[in-house]
Amino acid sequence: MTKAVYPGSFDPVTLGHLDIITRAAKVVDELVIGVLVNSKKSPLFSMEERIEMLKETTAHLPNVTVQAFEGMTIDFARQNGANVIIRGLRAITDFESEMQIAQINHSLDNNIDTMFFTTSLEYAFLSSTVVKEVAYYNSDISKFVPKAVEEKVKSKFSNINS
Ligand code: ADP
Repeated sequence: MTKAVYPGSFDPVTLGHLDIITRAAKVVDELVIGVLVNSKKSPLFSMEERIEMLKETTAHLPNVTVQAFEGMTIDFARQNGANVIIRGLRAITDFESEMQIAQINHSLDNNIDTMFFTTSLEYAFLSSTVVKEVAYYNSDISKFVPKAVEEKVKSKFSNINS
């Protein structure tokens, strides 16, 4: 059985993340999305909100679950009995750091491998940061995030900007 973890900040989940989740869920038996508690970043959305948005937008995928995690991805994978870490690659800039992280993780545990999915072309530019920047200026984010997330991002910024 192939069990995978897909770690990230998901602040908020975008259509780029959902594309990777949908494609990964087809090739592994079980996929656990790991939402990172990162003390170095102050997220726009709380952990509960990020988990809720991921659960809502992946509810149609029966082999996908969502969990919070803290610390190293390799430990999160081990705790879940996962043998694969999923990551998405957008540009060459992702490649360099992702390759380094994948190699470190593999040297820490050679039973766990990283599987990369290259971005679908329409999402190559897309990141949670881009979504937040566009929303901050009250521009349209409907092409970047699912409808349920769009509403939540808009209401966050209407609170911040008011
Ligand atoms: P992190 O803060 O670890 O980069 P993110 O939530 O931004 O976490 O991303 C999680 C994973 O999803 C990373 O592997 C990232 O490269 C990938 N990813 C994010 N956006 C896209 C996208 N538009 N297309 C493909 N992969 C993406």
